[in-house]
Amino acid sequence: MTGISVAPAAPMTKRLFIKTYGCQMNVYDSARMADLMTPLGYASAPTAEGADLVILNTCHIREKAAEKVFSELGAIRRLKLRRQREGGRMLVAVAGCVAQAEGAEIQRRAPFVDIVVGPQAYHRLPELVARAARAEEGGVLDTSFPAEPKFDYLPEASASAGFAAFLTIQEGCDKFCTFCVVPYTRGAEYSRPAAEIIAEASRLVASGAREIMLLGQNVNAYHGTAPDGGEWRLGDLIRALARLPGLARIRYTTSHPRDVDDGLVAAHRDVPQLMPFLHLPVQSGSDRVLGAMNRRHTADQYKATVERLRRARPDLALSSDFIVGFPGETDQDFQATLDLVGAVGYAQAFSFKYSPRPGTPAAAAEDQVPEPVKAERLAALQAFLQEQQHAFNAAYIGCRLPVLFEKPGRHQGQLVGRSPYLQAVHAEAPADRIGEILPVVIRAAQPNSLAGDIANLAAGDGEWAV
Ligand code: SF4
Repeated sequence: MTGISVAPAAPMTKRLFIKTYGCQMNVYDSARMADLMTPLGYASAPTAEGADLVILNTCHIREKAAEKVFSELGAIRRLKLRRQREGGRMLVAVAGCVAQAEGAEIQRRAPFVDIVVGPQAYHRLPELVARAARAEEGGVLDTSFPAEPKFDYLPEASASAGFAAFLTIQEGCDKFCTFCVVPYTRGAEYSRPAAEIIAEASRLVASGAREIMLLGQNVNAYHGTAPDGGEWRLGDLIRALARLPGLARIRYTTSHPRDVDDGLVAAHRDVPQLMPFLHLPVQSGSDRVLGAMNRRHTADQYKATVERLRRARPDLALSSDFIVGFPGETDQDFQATLDLVGAVGYAQAFSFKYSPRPGTPAAAAEDQVPEPVKAERLAALQAFLQEQQHAFNAAYIGCRLPVLFEKPGRHQGQLVGRSPYLQAVHAEAPADRIGEILPVVIRAAQPNSLAGDIANLAAGDGEWAV
């Protein structure tokens, strides 16, 4: 969950509070919703208390996501009633994937919600807010998949995206993995035109961004219109973005193994700004389970893709998502997952027990795996992945890594940033070095981060060009 900042509140402005759940794409969407409301006089508020408009930007990926939203709405309702007693009015909106999937249910169980808006319709937020403000009671629902591309109707992104910025280049998914709600909540795949993305990236760089993370539910399926009217794939777009002066680092997430094409592999080989870290979810190491998940590749094909990428960029660090206890998963299937982890070697990973998502094909499968078996397998997988992550981090002790410092650390005088391999790195340095890429000699490796010393800071060691 993340708070989002827009321009500081000024007198006479209306107060907007956005609570963001889930992935970076939701963080990006929340920032764009704030951008949409800024011209209408809304400015950020640190809490929902006393806000004129509260938006919950929800995520449907994790278990019991809808229940968490309903519980949050209970607290928001009390604030709304208090506001009413004080003679004011608070509009409440639910956006994001839970809004898309459970719109009617939200209106039934939480009739005080004024607006329910899906992820493909939030560019209509100003109009929906105006309609809700006019209505005495009864909510406004828009969970359509509009024909007009949302991005054509969004204002330019605000310039406060920070040194490591997000930029959505693609949305939706046509893959229909049997466990996933994304094709239902985000709709069909859509790629933004390249010129629009380059323009937004240029503005982000002009406002101070040193790194841009390109976002999409299936980001490497990107196939946007090129500036000359042809088609660009992700590799072409990365090469164009790498020509922007001042943009030191490019990353992208989340990828599908089937969409790693030769152009993308070549970009990993040729483009130094493309960081040597890739989140490439595999979910399972068993071909039988991969088939049941409709992943459309085998374990061997995944390993071959990793090999192609590593030949192009030998220091490429990998991350993945794993689901254990998918319906029908046997001990042998799970062992195949452990074997794949051993063969690939991950720098970090996310792993979860399978939990059914209403409306997805796997939710209706009869051969669900008992909870204790799932828990046991998850513990074994996580222990193995942690061991790999720790070994990966420990291998950098004594090495010099270029670190983009993004913010103050938890301790006084400390900054935190990211290595090229996406490791969090802590080092002591003055706050005015935030936003710089500095060489750090790694001193210690924790399970989830590194600690080090900035090399020759006093001697004025300059920035690393990476
Ligand atoms: S490719 Fe990713 S987003 Fe698309 S259905 Fe599969 S898991 Fe969901």
